[in-house]
Amino acid sequence: MERQRLKDKFIGALVGTFVGDTLGMAVEGYSLNQIEAEYGHIEHMLEARLGSGTYTDDTEMMIGVAESLIAVNGFDGKDMANKFITNLNLDRGYGSGTIQALNNIKAGTSWQEAGKYVFGNGSFGNGSAMRVAPIGVFYHDNYEKLKEKAKKSSLITHAHPLGKTGATLQALTVGYAINQASDSDFSVENYLNFLSKLLDLDSKEFSHKFRLINEYLDDQPNKEQVAKELGSDTRVFNSVPTSIYSFLANLNEFRDAVLYAINLGGDTDTVGAMTGAIAGAYHGFDKIPKDWLNNLENNKKGLDYIINLGERLFELRYNC
Ligand SMILES: [Mg+2]
Repeated sequence: MERQRLKDKFIGALVGTFVGDTLGMAVEGYSLNQIEAEYGHIEHMLEARLGSGTYTDDTEMMIGVAESLIAVNGFDGKDMANKFITNLNLDRGYGSGTIQALNNIKAGTSWQEAGKYVFGNGSFGNGSAMRVAPIGVFYHDNYEKLKEKAKKSSLITHAHPLGKTGATLQALTVGYAINQASDSDFSVENYLNFLSKLLDLDSKEFSHKFRLINEYLDDQPNKEQVAKELGSDTRVFNSVPTSIYSFLANLNEFRDAVLYAINLGGDTDTVGAMTGAIAGAYHGFDKIPKDWLNNLENNKKGLDYIINLGERLFELRYNC
């Protein structure tokens, strides 16, 4: 792939996370029916809790992942945990399990142990999948390494086996999307074969969802059925498959994929962020609608900073 194109995809995955998170923020926790009653079909950025164009914990933690990969030229759990702690702004809306794990680390627990007993056996929320895009980007040319690092990055806050699988699935999908030319026909069959070779999706939670994804791509059910059966709540075995389906069912346009995801309702900022990461990695930064980009916050760690993180990840990997 041409270098400029690859760089554009690196940036697309990071900014895609930001855009999807921001679009979903205003309706986080709304049901599909509530969204329809209040907004009809969401097509634009809405005024949100921290203002229009602002992001939530998803993007703030994704920034930490990217900053850490850049600082130590690869994955380092201790450094990444410290980046999360340094960046933590509770106004962005963090999950209670993540706060608990990061507090454990602040109190001296190692990053490998900090998330283990959150909610009993570790969290299987989507908090480690929502932030994982930079790992999919950084290790896109080595899927075994990508898997290993994604799993470890989840351990910091989401140590339950399902939490780790969800983050790995999301990271592999981002990495795979980076490697596909977006002007060619994307083969869903090849993608699903790729996943089955690399990831043990035999747990009943994930295998059921992938059966549904296959069915839905043929049947194209209505949004009510997708929201109800595939699910878009905070549990990672619901929201990651739903993000993947939102992408696969809307392969042609970044805009369509992200809007589809958000209009399902549920954990809209995170489903938006994860769909945006995959679609951004596939289409590239260039294909993210300018009317959305123009509306994003651009303060200290806003749009320009996130674009720069994508550029630096690229420079680091390709020695330029
Ligand atoms: Mg959020």
